[in-house]
Amino acid sequence: MIPGSFSYHRPTTVADAVKLLASLGEEARPLAGGHSLVPMMKLRLATPEHLVDLGRIASLKGIRRQGDRLEIGAMTTQHELLASKEVADAVPILHEAALLIADPQVRYLGTIGGNVANGDPGNDLPAIMMALSASYTLTGAKGSREVAARDFYQGAYFTALEPGELLTAVSIPVPPTGHGYAYEKLKRKVGDYATAAAAVVLTKKGGVVENCAITLTNLAETALFAEAAAKAVIGTRLEPAALNAAAAAAQAVMSPASDARGPAEYRKHVGGVMVTRALTRAAARAT
Ligand SMILES: Cc1cc2nc3c(=O)[nH]c(=O)nc-3n(C[C@H](O)[C@H](O)[C@H](O)COP(=O)(O)OP(=O)(O)OC[C@H]3O[C@@H](n4cnc5c(N)ncnc54)[C@H](O)[C@@H]3O)c2cc1C
Repeated sequence: MIPGSFSYHRPTTVADAVKLLASLGEEARPLAGGHSLVPMMKLRLATPEHLVDLGRIASLKGIRRQGDRLEIGAMTTQHELLASKEVADAVPILHEAALLIADPQVRYLGTIGGNVANGDPGNDLPAIMMALSASYTLTGAKGSREVAARDFYQGAYFTALEPGELLTAVSIPVPPTGHGYAYEKLKRKVGDYATAAAAVVLTKKGGVVENCAITLTNLAETALFAEAAAKAVIGTRLEPAALNAAAAAAQAVMSPASDARGPAEYRKHVGGVMVTRALTRAAARAT
C-alpha cells in the first residue's frame, strides 16, 4: 500500500515539462490527477523514479470554443467538464459520459488528459473521443503533432505517445445542431468501470439515419470504433432488423476478457444490448 520512493518535479510550463521528461528518460512519468497512476504505484504495479506533476501548468487548463471546434486543455478535470455549459451545449455526450465516471471524489481530480492518455480500456472517455472524431495534441521536445483519437490506441496501455511526449489538448469538432447522442454503460455498481459500454453519435434526415458513429468501451484491449455496426444503420429508420444487424456487427469486433465483471460471452452479449440501447436513445434525441 506504500509506493516506492520517487523524486517529485513541478514544472510551470509545457516546455519545462517536456525538457524534464526528455532528460529524465524512461523512469519518469507525468502526473495529472493521480487517480489511475497513484493506485498503480501503491500496488507497486508502477514504480516510476520521477514524477513530473502537470498541476501547476496553467496553459494546460481550460475549455475554449474555437470556431467549429471545442478545445480542452489536458489538465481540465472531469468535474470541470461537468460544470461547463459549453460542453453541455456543444458536446452533450461528453457531459453524459463524464457523469458516469467513478464518483465525485475521483472526478474532482481526474483529468480529461489522464483519462484519454492512460490507454486503459476501461476508461470511458476514449470511446467518446473516437465517436466524436476528436484529435489529440501531442507535444514533445521536438514540437507538437495532432493524432486522431481513432488512431491513438494501440493496445492496453499502449498508445501513439512517444517517450517524453505529453498529451496537451483534446480538440473536438462540434457535432451539428440536432444530432442524436447516447452513452450506455453497464456497470456492477455506482462508481465502477464498465462491464460493457457503447457510445453513439448520429444525425437523421427525414427519419432516416444519415451519419452514425458507434464506439465501445471495455470490450477489447482498447476502445473500439465499430465501423461496420454504424454502416448497418446508415440509410435505415432503425427498424428492429437494422438494430440487430448493428449489434451483431459490433459483437463481431469485441474480444472482452473473462474477469470479475463476467465471462467473455456475457460481456459480448451485454455489449450488443448497450449498442441497441444507445442507438435507440440517440435516435430519439435527434431532431
Ligand atoms: C475508484 C476509481 C474508479 C474509477 N472509475 C472510473 C470509471 O468508471 N471510468 C473512467 O473513465 N475512469 C475511472 N477511473 C479513472 C479516473 O477517471 C482517472 O482519473 C483517469 O483515468 C486518469 O486521469 P488522471 O488525471 O487521474 O491521470 P493520472 O492517474 O495522473 O495518470 C494516468 C496515466 O496517464 C499518464 N498521463 C496523465 N496525463 C498525461 C498527459 N497529459 N500526457 C501524457 N500522459 C499523461 C500518466 O503518466 C499515467 O501513466 C477511476 C478511478 C478510481 C480511483
